[in-house]
Amino acid sequence: MAASLLLLLLFFTFQCQIRVLFSQTIPNQDDSYMKFVQKANTLPTREEYDYIIIGGGTAGCPLAATLSSNFSVLVLERGSDPNAFPSVLSQQGLANTLTDNDDGLNPFQRFVSEDGVENIRGRVLGGGSMINVGFYSRAQPEFFKSSGIQWDMTAVEKAYQWIEETVVSRPELSPWQSAFREVLLEAGVGPDNGYDLKHGVGTRTGGSIFDSRGRRHGAVELLNKADPRNLRVATQATVKRIIFSQSNGLSASGVLYSDFKGKLHKATISKNGEIILTAGAIGSPHLLLQSGVGPKSHLSSLKLPVVLHNRHVGQSMADNPRFGAAIVLPFLTPPTSVQVVGTLKRNIHIESLSSILPFSIFPPFGLLPPRSTAVNLSLAVFAGKFSTVSSVGSLRLDGRKNPIVRFNYLSHPDDVERCVEGVRKVGDLVNTKSMERIKTGDLEGKKGFKFLGSPLPENMSDYKLVGDFCRKTVTTFWHYHGGCLVGKVVDDNYRVIGIKKLRVVDGSTFSLSPGTNPMATVMMLGRYVGLKMLQQRLG
Ligand SMILES: Cc1cc2nc3c(=O)[nH]c(=O)nc-3n(C[C@H](O)[C@H](O)[C@H](O)COP(=O)(O)OP(=O)(O)OC[C@H]3O[C@@H](n4cnc5c(N)ncnc54)[C@H](O)[C@@H]3O)c2cc1C
Repeated sequence: MAASLLLLLLFFTFQCQIRVLFSQTIPNQDDSYMKFVQKANTLPTREEYDYIIIGGGTAGCPLAATLSSNFSVLVLERGSDPNAFPSVLSQQGLANTLTDNDDGLNPFQRFVSEDGVENIRGRVLGGGSMINVGFYSRAQPEFFKSSGIQWDMTAVEKAYQWIEETVVSRPELSPWQSAFREVLLEAGVGPDNGYDLKHGVGTRTGGSIFDSRGRRHGAVELLNKADPRNLRVATQATVKRIIFSQSNGLSASGVLYSDFKGKLHKATISKNGEIILTAGAIGSPHLLLQSGVGPKSHLSSLKLPVVLHNRHVGQSMADNPRFGAAIVLPFLTPPTSVQVVGTLKRNIHIESLSSILPFSIFPPFGLLPPRSTAVNLSLAVFAGKFSTVSSVGSLRLDGRKNPIVRFNYLSHPDDVERCVEGVRKVGDLVNTKSMERIKTGDLEGKKGFKFLGSPLPENMSDYKLVGDFCRKTVTTFWHYHGGCLVGKVVDDNYRVIGIKKLRVVDGSTFSLSPGTNPMATVMMLGRYVGLKMLQQRLG
């Protein structure tokens, strides 16, 4: 319900002339990557490459571009290229696609978790980075410390920069975002960190992958950095399973994928080649299970041949619950996407967007003046998230095309505690002096907020009441992760434990969500691991 509300808000946000002002921006959209993109049905039914990348998404694109500098690379992406859906290429068009029904082909794949929460996955070249809200922000230090990886932080910095020079712009704040900034600082969310792509406690303006004219620069543009002689990108190529060989210990040797006509193709890897799964937090554990890698009892119950028993595949699935409130404003303000974030000490983050909600009036309603058919209202939405989620769930197959996923939102008391802290901070924000401007009065002069949906709890000191509010209004922040965790499914080089020549490099390896928003770190990971692989192979 709350997810539909946000979709609705986004719809109206982008339907109206969005005014996003930028002071530093990157050049025009560059789709020169199209010269090495082709539909899977035009590819031979058998081919060999040095590297096969499954999933041309947020991590897959930078990884492919990096590996192509020295080796032949095939990217297999189940979705189409973004030019087939011009709406994903602009901030304004995004909402049309967001509200489209899922016809099995469009860039948004809808799913509902067993918790009953509606959610979305990317199904397009560029993955989630082509359908998201575009806020760009790097990971917090705790992410690196607790990830189980010995990071080379100089290489991490360079990998972030490699991404940022191509896809990130600096936004100039809209009126609502400026007001929100003031409100955060007034409520004590300090210090004021100005514009910063880095994580930090306090109030901060982040980057955006939308430029000054609202054009999206998703991960797909990182493919432009590839060596075109070495890269082939197949769209409408759905990988069905990974093929293994036992000749020299268990090892991945190829993949079977189908084109949109259902014809099967086989691609194999060369002697020192590898297969890398970058199919996202739902797609990667799903494909491992489909290929016979996962809990033996689960695979056997579905009569799937067990290639390798690993009870952790598909486990520790987490989604960051979204909490907050929507308030009807007593004036119209230009709609804007997220540009500013307030971060509290325990990695609790609060963002806001403004949008316009037009309400239609039935035309022949005689009491109204002629031609009064609609009224526009502005809304302010406060949306909060916490990075560390203790409530986890799982992903499993049930014989159908898509897996079943459960996140068990707020089932762990620590998450309820974090949510309560976040909601109380939203309460502090709405109680600032600056927010007095958006209160409306009744006939007796009593002032208050006009909430759309559930109002914030009146008594914020009542822990149970605020906790109940969290549970009642919980929805997704779309930052789901887990399923192939480091140390459980992959080692500290992202290699699948127990299988040679197979890695997983995407959000499924995360045990906590990086920073306020994960896209920056998922892209960085693709570049970082690509460079490490080149180093390991070339010396
Ligand atoms: C609505 C929405 C708004 C968001 N807003 C933001 C934001 O503002 N800022 C931010 O930082 N993050 C945001 N996110 C989150 C962010 O976009 C994702 O966390 C990130 O893009 C995930 O990257 P990934 O590489 O793990 O997966 P993806 O980018 O989803 O890549 C996986 C790719 O693999 C493909 N694939 C899957 N299975 C197969 C298969 N069997 N064969 C072939 N291909 C396959 C998929 O089609 C997809 O293209 C948002 C997400 C959503 C959904």
